[in-house]
Amino acid sequence: MSSVTVPKLSSERTSELADSLTKIRTRIAKAADGRTPTLVAVSKYKPASDILACYDLGQRDFGENYVQELVDKARQLPDDIRWHFIGTLQSNKAKVLASIPNIHTIQTLSSVKAADGLNKHIPSTRTVPLNVLLQVNTSGEDAKSGREPLRLSDSPSSIASSELVAVAQHIVTACPRLHLHGLMTIGALVESLSGDENRDFEVLKETREVLERVLSEDKEATNWGEEVEGKKRLVLSMGMSSDFESALRAGADIVRVGTGIFGSRQLKGDTTPST
Ligand SMILES: *Cc1c(COP(=O)(O)O)cnc(C)c1O
Repeated sequence: MSSVTVPKLSSERTSELADSLTKIRTRIAKAADGRTPTLVAVSKYKPASDILACYDLGQRDFGENYVQELVDKARQLPDDIRWHFIGTLQSNKAKVLASIPNIHTIQTLSSVKAADGLNKHIPSTRTVPLNVLLQVNTSGEDAKSGREPLRLSDSPSSIASSELVAVAQHIVTACPRLHLHGLMTIGALVESLSGDENRDFEVLKETREVLERVLSEDKEATNWGEEVEGKKRLVLSMGMSSDFESALRAGADIVRVGTGIFGSRQLKGDTTPST
């Protein structure tokens, strides 16, 4: 933490944030049915003072989409915050990201180049590996990043030649400073709030099953997953403000909630005329 002082919030805003954070936590606990998923509070575009108010309520995991914004906030805010990068990852930004002392997880990794960049630039002072999640484009939309999902019905040769498997295998064989922690998807927005569950969540689960099987075959690879009841598992990051309950019912380990906590976002372009 530097000497920059974060301005104090109004008491109205403080109680507004306390209220929304409490409501989200309650909804998560209900949908998680006894499990304890991680809530990442997505604070993009929101001021450091908002983050500090949530921090004072015990929130420690925060997600940001823009590298410079993350760097600036990390500098001003407590160093036991666990920062998650959830934006588009350009490999030329790997060095800056890897240098943030309390960067906890990169959720949007999808290339060998970016993996190498992160692995290479993690400072020797860092004592724990950097968690990475591989982003999967479960909905197949052009606008979404990430690698193609895997299917249980895929042939061994198509699994072996998939890009997702290639990145995963590269991490576990050539990136000792990274820890392949799991998979992440954004998925298509599904309007219905009824019993209709989002297909994307099922696709991510199936992808995990296939990938876990591939990784388990490599006995040398240790820097992936976490031990759950004697079996190595990859975690799943899925679900946002509009669909986190459905994601939790489908088995999400990490949900990423922005507007549900902080309210709607004003796009940067709306306030700054031309940058
Ligand atoms: C912005 C963002 C979120 C949060 O979205 P909300 O709808 O505001 O909850 C979650 N994940 C990613 C990748 C995002 O970019």
